[in-house]
Amino acid sequence: MRLILLGPPGAGKGTQAQFLVERFGIPQLSTGDMLRAAIAGETPLGLEVKDIIARGDLVPDETVVGIISDRLDQSDCQKGFILDGFPRTTEQARALEVLLADKGIGLDAVVEIKVDADTLVGRILTRAAESGGARADDNEEVLRNRLDVYQELTAPLVDFYSKKDLVKSVDGMAGIDEVTTSIMAALAAS
Ligand code: ADP
Repeated sequence: MRLILLGPPGAGKGTQAQFLVERFGIPQLSTGDMLRAAIAGETPLGLEVKDIIARGDLVPDETVVGIISDRLDQSDCQKGFILDGFPRTTEQARALEVLLADKGIGLDAVVEIKVDADTLVGRILTRAAESGGARADDNEEVLRNRLDVYQELTAPLVDFYSKKDLVKSVDGMAGIDEVTTSIMAALAAS
């Protein structure tokens, strides 16, 4: 199973990805997690992206495409993978097509988790408060920027993948288990 999880910050992509990891025995590839690990490890990549992420802007396409390209070559991705937070721009989606075509594989589905933008700010700020504000980019101003960036650069991917007939949309406003059930139903129907 080769999947993309698409949805704005706070839609619950990470939560649903963890369930899918267990269900299908395939890894979650979260560019956000990988970039945060690089920042924590103070690697050259981490130093390059630290300020960009703190502002809620996107890191350069070639940087994340390089990370994903290396990650897809690892053996645990042979059975499939769940992309969480990548691709985020049309450029990244095109680069992913080339990477997959080179490997002779394709995507099975793009799961769009639809949420009401107005409720997201509250949801994420609650998450930040509960986790002790662990993420530097979970404050209101940066969050609003992340949502704007999503609308402008990432939301067009729904159209991009709809044209390829890959999109399965689920209602992300429902409870966590209900969203999981909808995702499984959508995938079973594909
Ligand atoms: P969220 O879905 O909550 O916005 P992520 O953990 O996916 O959070 O991403 C956090 C930040 O990492 C983004 O705001 C962006 O700065 C950077 N990032 C993650 N993935 C990408 C990507 N595919 N392209 C560019 N920047 C990315």
